[in-house]
Amino acid sequence: MDPARRRRNQELWSTDKVRVVVGTVAFGLGINKPGVRKVIHLALPKSIEQFYQEAGRAGRDGLPAECLLLWQKRDAAIIAHFLSQIENKQEKERGWMRYHEIREFVDNSACRQLQICRHFGEQPKWPSCGKCDACVGFPTWMSKAIETNEKFPSRASSAPMSPQARESLNLLNQGLSFAEIARRRGRTLQSVENLFGAMVERRQCPYRPEWVQSSRYDQICLVAQKVGWDRLKPIKESLPEEITYGEIRLVAAHQRVQSVQ
Ligand SMILES: [Zn+2]
Repeated sequence: MDPARRRRNQELWSTDKVRVVVGTVAFGLGINKPGVRKVIHLALPKSIEQFYQEAGRAGRDGLPAECLLLWQKRDAAIIAHFLSQIENKQEKERGWMRYHEIREFVDNSACRQLQICRHFGEQPKWPSCGKCDACVGFPTWMSKAIETNEKFPSRASSAPMSPQARESLNLLNQGLSFAEIARRRGRTLQSVENLFGAMVERRQCPYRPEWVQSSRYDQICLVAQKVGWDRLKPIKESLPEEITYGEIRLVAAHQRVQSVQ
């Protein structure tokens, strides 16, 4: 794009004459517009620092804003390719470290805000922010987009949700536990856990670490490494009695989703 046109576009956006602007990473540098309501990444950033700086352009007026990071495996391959071209050994190592940090950030299912705080050396007292996808799932507008367009280009591609799945997810987002959802819907706890296991696999709902105690999670994975994930019964039989089928189902779903990413 020629510089004059680029400047004109930027001006139209900065003065609120157009609502949406699409640009490369370089476009946004130095922009300090207070009322940006959404920042959408369409590729994996090179580092958490880069993501944080770019996402930080949203909501500078202090009002609610949303940040969405969409990425695909190809982005990681492109970053890896550029890292492999770096000749300076230390610079290369730093690049790889940043790459592993951002992969860890997008791949795991812990609270995104908590991860960012910890990355920058803070130790927040709160266990989850209650706002990010790991804490509360995808925003409603995005779930709708996923349902209506199967070719939606994200890791979150999913099948349409059944009414009972939608109702259960709404209850979960209202803060109800699985046991409370089961009571409310007249189901067994295990059937609710199975339902959420299936939703995790269909990427209709991200796995939440609080669903299964981490020590139990690890025990389940250890056993499954020996007997495989295909059938839950052999896993159940090799574990202490108190670890339930529902918990195994949830961990299996989370592991399956991660293995295909
Ligand atoms: Zn969170």
